[in-house]
Amino acid sequence: MENNEDNYLMISGIQHYEFCKRQWALIHIEQQWFENVKTVEGSNLHNKADNPHIREKRNDKIIVRSMAVKSTSLEITGVCDVVEFIQNSNGVWLDKEEDYYQVCPVEYKRGRPKQDHADILQMAAQAVCLEEMFLTTIEKGYIFYGEKKERLEVLLSDDIRNELRKTVQDMHQMYKKRLTPKVKTGKHCKSCSLQSICLPDMLNKSSVKSYIERKIAE
Ligand code: SF4
Repeated sequence: MENNEDNYLMISGIQHYEFCKRQWALIHIEQQWFENVKTVEGSNLHNKADNPHIREKRNDKIIVRSMAVKSTSLEITGVCDVVEFIQNSNGVWLDKEEDYYQVCPVEYKRGRPKQDHADILQMAAQAVCLEEMFLTTIEKGYIFYGEKKERLEVLLSDDIRNELRKTVQDMHQMYKKRLTPKVKTGKHCKSCSLQSICLPDMLNKSSVKSYIERKIAE
């Protein structure tokens, strides 16, 4: 399969795709982006993760912030908020440290754990990138939720990995077709940063229009 890095998708897009496929397409295919309060708050939290101490050593742990990662198998790329390297004889050899370390991604999120798998898939995507880059296996990662200041441990099971693979494949297909889909609108549209360009009410109206047109044609 052709592996052109120009076609790599942003890992951060997984959360948009899980929230609404149309939102993802508007941002990542049509390159539309309007910040609302939530995205600004979200970036503030990320700024904390992006603080100037890019690399910090604490006892048996090395903490690296804002690490760029990519996966050639999934054709995705992004930046990990935090990657922890924990001293462990079963880990990977780090030349600079002259020791073995286990690799563990930590994703920072505003708010609290969600009903869907968006955050888990995003963290799993980072883990797959790190596995390929460090030639290792990562069994778990963490998601830190800002609202509750709580760190959730996530095991990277086969189910999660399969769900990630399927999601990313679907995203690539939509991206190749440059398709911005029409979707079902709902309560979630109220918190969407792209309401003003998506015009969800118009989406509903056009469905009614096409429904009437279909009925007339029958
Ligand atoms: S307004 Fe609703 S349908 Fe439109 S992009 Fe946002 S969430 Fe999706």
